[in-house]
Amino acid sequence: MLITHLHRFCTPFSISISSSSLYTHLFRLPKTRLPIAKTLCCTAYSTLSAARLVSIPDSPSSISVASEDTTLEARHHLLIPEEAQIEIPVEKLFIPPETDVSSGSAPLSTRVLKGSNIVLSRYARDALIAQAEFVKSSTRTEDCPSDGLPEFALVGRSNVGKSSLLNSLVRRKRLALTSKKPGKTQLINHFRINDSWYLVDLPGYGYAAAPHELRVDWDKFTKDYFVNRSTLVSVFLLIDASIPAKKIDLEYASWLGENQIPMTLIFTKCDKRKKKKNGGKRPEENVQDFQELIREFFQAAPPWIMTSSVTNQGRDEILLHMAQLRNYWLKH
Ligand code: GDP
Repeated sequence: MLITHLHRFCTPFSISISSSSLYTHLFRLPKTRLPIAKTLCCTAYSTLSAARLVSIPDSPSSISVASEDTTLEARHHLLIPEEAQIEIPVEKLFIPPETDVSSGSAPLSTRVLKGSNIVLSRYARDALIAQAEFVKSSTRTEDCPSDGLPEFALVGRSNVGKSSLLNSLVRRKRLALTSKKPGKTQLINHFRINDSWYLVDLPGYGYAAAPHELRVDWDKFTKDYFVNRSTLVSVFLLIDASIPAKKIDLEYASWLGENQIPMTLIFTKCDKRKKKKNGGKRPEENVQDFQELIREFFQAAPPWIMTSSVTNQGRDEILLHMAQLRNYWLKH
C-alpha cells in the first residue's frame, strides 16, 4: 500500500514524519523558513530546464516515437488571461516531499507550476510521454495489472471532460474509448505509458438517469480500487471549473480526504470564461470556492491544476506533477 512507502519521508530539516498520507506532512514544514512573500501568483514559471517534455504525434498505432523535444520554458507560453491569475497564500501551496524550501535555493515563487498551487521538486524529471498503449480493462481491483508499476487514476462526473483530457495528455484523438453509458459493465481501464507507469481511466459518476443500484455499485467498485490498489500514487479528481461546485463532487473529494487517499484536483474547461447572466462565476472563482468547501476534510491543501483540453492549458503541468509524484514514490 502506498502509505507504507511514505513513512520514511523526512524534510530537508530532518523533521521526522509519522503521517500516513503523502500530503498531510506538508503543514509541518516550518513556515517561518519560507523565503517568500505572503502570497504568490500562480502563473510562475518553472526554472527546471532539466524537466523536458516531448509530445507524441497523433497516430493510429500503439507505439509512437518522440519527435518533438521542447524545453518546459518554451512550452509555457500558454494564454491564461490576466484576470485568471490567482493569488495563493503560502500555506495553500502544495510542497512535494523533499522539496528544498531553504533560502539557499531558487525562490519558491519561481517554482510554482503555472495555473496551479504545485511547487516543483527535484523529482520533476522524465515527464515526457513518448509511448502510450491500452493494456486492459478490469472489472475488479484484483484483476488489474500486477507488474507493480505506479499509476494515476482519472475520475470525475460524466461529461467533466475526462476522455478529452486523457486524449490530450497522450496526444491521441481516440485513445480513451471507454464505456460511457450507465448500465454497461464498469471497467478499470489501464493505459501503459513509456512502459513504466499507468494512466487509469475509471468510469464517470453522477449520471442523473442512473438507477440507485448502479450508483451504489459504482461507489463500491471505485472505492474498493482506491483503498486496495497498492500501486496507486494519486487519484486525479476532475472538476468542471466552468460551473459552480456540485454536491456529488464535493462528497467525492471529501471522501478521498477523509480516507487519506492522495488526491490531485484537476479543474477542467478553464477556457470557458463567459460569465453567465444568472450570477455564474468565472473558472478561477469556482476553483477557489471548491477548495474552500472541501478545506475541512484535508489537513493540508491538496494539489490542484487548472486545465483545458481545448487550449492544452495545464497539460505540461499535469505531466510534471505526475513525474515528481511518481519518482518520489519509486524511490521510497
Ligand atoms: P467525459 O464524459 O468526462 O469523458 O467528457 P468528454 O471528454 O467526453 O467531454 C464532454 C464534453 O465536454 C464534450 O462535449 C467535450 O467537447 C467538452 N469538453 C471537454 N473538455 C473540454 C474543455 O477543456 N473545454 C471545453 N470548452 N469543452 C470541453
